[in-house]
Amino acid sequence: MKISVVIPCYNEQEALPELFDRLEEVLSGMACDYEYVFVDDGSTDRTIAVLRTLRERSPRVGVISFRRNYGKSAALNEGFRAASGDLIVTIDADLQDDPAEIPNLLKRIEAGADLVSGWKTNRQDPPSKTLPSRVFNRVTSIVTGVRLHDFNCGFKMYRREVVGAITVYGELHRFIPALAAWEGFRVDEVGVRHYKRKYGKSKYGPRRFLNGFFDLITTMFVTRRALNPLHLFGRVALVLFLLGLAPQLYFLVHWLAGNGLRVRPIMLLGFVLIIVAIQVASIGLLAELISARAARETVYAFKEYDVRGERHPRVPTRSA
Ligand code: UDP
Ligand code: MG
Repeated sequence: MKISVVIPCYNEQEALPELFDRLEEVLSGMACDYEYVFVDDGSTDRTIAVLRTLRERSPRVGVISFRRNYGKSAALNEGFRAASGDLIVTIDADLQDDPAEIPNLLKRIEAGADLVSGWKTNRQDPPSKTLPSRVFNRVTSIVTGVRLHDFNCGFKMYRREVVGAITVYGELHRFIPALAAWEGFRVDEVGVRHYKRKYGKSKYGPRRFLNGFFDLITTMFVTRRALNPLHLFGRVALVLFLLGLAPQLYFLVHWLAGNGLRVRPIMLLGFVLIIVAIQVASIGLLAELISARAARETVYAFKEYDVRGERHPRVPTRSA
């Protein structure tokens, strides 16, 4: 068995040597092969130079370097693609998580989970971050139906199949547990200790949570696991259409009964509602057409793959 440790790094020059030493200490004590995939996310400090020295120290170190800062999701996604392990661990570069807890994550995988997410039970961040985070986690948990306390913890362990089946872009790294759960993977969490950032500064402020909610809606549509565009837009359109139709029917009956018609505000409102309903339905239909095309590239997460008696130990990847 092999473990790949994927580490997104954006301006983390001070923390990296210490992180590497601590990871080495833990991993060399585990009875398995391992490798590192450091992803330098367009750092502007000496991060890449530090990573080069780490690569000289150990052949297990792999380095990917982005030309510019693409964000943590992109860094993780590329790290996942490059990782060759059967298990993949992601850990932040800033030493806020303790590598010594990797065996605890592994225990949950051995107990049957496909993805184990860390849960920062004693979070060491300012209240300006922890409070919105709490709201974010509650709402995400309710909306996605994935019962986790801490979606956004950078410390996670995955079975290889999981990272092959999900695509993380934009800022969707916050929803990885939901993405995985929607693909049918078993998601578990385990409490981890959390430490104050020792060097450098945080790349994310409380502002991120607003974007987080927009991303939540995006994920629900994009993955189609939680929402079909037309199912939602169609329902909204239907309600608007019926609301718009009702007054017109009333006026029609009124007119058929021989009464004269005058333009009434409610009549105008009815027309507007009908027009809006048609537009909403059309948007839903367009969204369906777009996702129908995208469906060609969808990667399905297999549990078993058995065609005509031939069993392929096939691990789905994005290129498959
Ligand atoms: N990170 C990254 N690209 C970015 C921002 C952050 O690769 O654009 C990395 C960062 O180097 C760290 C991890 O993502 O390893 C988490 O970032 P940070 O510690 O700033 O977030 P916080 O812990 O404050 O939520
Ligand atoms: Mg951090």
